[in-house]
Amino acid sequence: MTSRNQQLFEKSQQFIPGGVNSPVRAFGSVGGTPVFFKRGAGATVWDEDGQAYIDYVGSWGPMILGHAHPEVIKAVQETAANGLSFGAPTALELEMAETLCMLLPGMDQVRLVSSGTEATMSAIRLARGYTGRSKIIKFEGCYHGHADSLLVKAGSGALTFGQPSSGGVPAETAAHTLVLAYNDSAALVETFGKIGNEIAAVIVEPVAGNMNLVAPKPEFLKALRELCTQHGSVLIFDEVMTGFRVGPKCAQGMFGIVPDLTTLGKVIGGGMPLGAFGGRREIMQKLAPLGPVYQAGTLSGNPVAVAAGLTTLRLVQAPGFYDKLAAATRKLIDGLTAAARKHGVIFSAQSVGGMFGVYFRATPPTSYAEVMECDKTAFNHFFHAMLEKGIYLAPSAFEAGFVSAAHTDLEIEKTLQAADEVFGGMSKR
Ligand code: PMP
Repeated sequence: MTSRNQQLFEKSQQFIPGGVNSPVRAFGSVGGTPVFFKRGAGATVWDEDGQAYIDYVGSWGPMILGHAHPEVIKAVQETAANGLSFGAPTALELEMAETLCMLLPGMDQVRLVSSGTEATMSAIRLARGYTGRSKIIKFEGCYHGHADSLLVKAGSGALTFGQPSSGGVPAETAAHTLVLAYNDSAALVETFGKIGNEIAAVIVEPVAGNMNLVAPKPEFLKALRELCTQHGSVLIFDEVMTGFRVGPKCAQGMFGIVPDLTTLGKVIGGGMPLGAFGGRREIMQKLAPLGPVYQAGTLSGNPVAVAAGLTTLRLVQAPGFYDKLAAATRKLIDGLTAAARKHGVIFSAQSVGGMFGVYFRATPPTSYAEVMECDKTAFNHFFHAMLEKGIYLAPSAFEAGFVSAAHTDLEIEKTLQAADEVFGGMSKR
């Protein structure tokens, strides 16, 4: 009997390219039929066939409180009842802007948008408009949404003028994007030494979460800050994923670095489409209507999205919230590591706050090149075997995982029990 998941996926492919509205959902990397979700509550999601899963994707990060948190749902319902969109200022969006500026020391002003891509794309344009320069630096393996200038293939560590990694991106656009290796301070110093006065901005995931999880070396982030200041380049921390995920003051608070601009998304919308970019007043004031850099959005600052986000931000600021989240995440990764070791499977794992990475490699990677050394076949087997046991992990070896406040000891222990059985089977393969 074909499952409803399978039927839906077959039909979806007829009407939606690849059957999905965002590529990684298609299980292209791990193979098999994607799971169609119908409902979520807390740490659990149910698919169209009624199968329950403990969810470690959390909509790729936003669901830090778990699914369908009663207070978030209530805020959404109450706000929606007053109208869905006005295309005019609202008090709620001011409250969100003020909240973000209060929480992040380097954020004097902020503008709300509807996705992470819009936030990074706008921040890059603003940095270019502010500096009057064209070139930007990004790092191998970092993803910053799908704006043309950021979809640039990684070079091999050294200074490389990028080739586009997507059809439809003009070579001329990609040529302004330089790709360096993550955590490689020496390459950064060398590049700034050569062309520092041409660099408009450096954009970085302060904890990389789009090549699995790669933690930053503190000296790397420090070098970034110093070089940008020295050369008048705008330092953009892309905290779309890490923002209010790794800690109460994002990754910048954790590592004690104040960027010039910060981009946010995911958690600040609590599961609704919301992004933001903000930072130094002097830079932000270059935006229209005050300055020459144009940026706009019909649904920007949408009240329903803002209501979900404000409620989420209020709840995550509760004392001890992040300590508990980080402890639960550590319990998960320590348990996974111990289970793998018990069965002699080559494996490592690490976490930063409520984000984690699992690697079929002896030690956690520190760069894209090292991430590529992970055993992808082993991951794919692990993913499907865990899925069969009702554990939903990110369907790719190159994505970070997420724990929510709704993941209690019970869910984590069930996950570890499943992993013990799966690793046991793997050691016999
Ligand atoms: N930046 C980072 C660091 C991200 O992780 C993502 C999405 N995963 C984006 C930008 C793009 O955000 P969105 O998918 O909301 O456009």
